[in-house]
Amino acid sequence: MQTWISNDIYLAEQLVKEPAAFAAATEEIRKTGLPAMEVSPAQGKLLYLLAKIKNATRILEIGTFYGYSTMWLAKAVPKDGLVVSMELTEAFVKIAKANIAEAGLSDKVQLYHGDATKILCNLIEEKTPPFDMIFIDAHKPGYPEYLDLCLKLSKPGTIIIGDNVILGSEISLATNPKAEGVRSFIQNLSASEDIESTALQTVGIKGYDGFTISVV
Ligand code: MG
Repeated sequence: MQTWISNDIYLAEQLVKEPAAFAAATEEIRKTGLPAMEVSPAQGKLLYLLAKIKNATRILEIGTFYGYSTMWLAKAVPKDGLVVSMELTEAFVKIAKANIAEAGLSDKVQLYHGDATKILCNLIEEKTPPFDMIFIDAHKPGYPEYLDLCLKLSKPGTIIIGDNVILGSEISLATNPKAEGVRSFIQNLSASEDIESTALQTVGIKGYDGFTISVV
């Protein structure tokens, strides 16, 4: 086992204190044979802590999958807080809904099924109040467009996190639609005068990856 995997397991056991319902949801999804696209327990806890540090009451998430990060974010917001999350695959929406209910977090989560671009445009049109924190963890070629739309759902101080920006490889060199999407996203973060950003490369049970972190 690579050192970073055993270290990640050790650190998660010591520090993360993953709720049993979250772990049970992960155990269930693994039985389906689907790839482990969710954040790791340690990363979920990081999202939770960032939301806490921010005192976030409204969080937007693009890409629900089975609701793993959604549950960490929902656990972080107060009773009257809200996590709005969206997912393209209908089967995942059903699974996420059940997991979120099992974790007792349904009151704090609003799940949308459908194309993220359309849902974000609808939220903008409906003049949804701005979000305190936004987690982008979906179709990589969509990242530049999601960022544009997310900026319209932000306010000064909004934290925006972009997941999987390394894609397990040399993001700066790879030539595939995913890498190109992430690179345009990073370029747009760089070019925007409305946002300050950095990125961190990570290792752990999910292998080698990384995320961007920005403040509007
Ligand atoms: Mg991800």
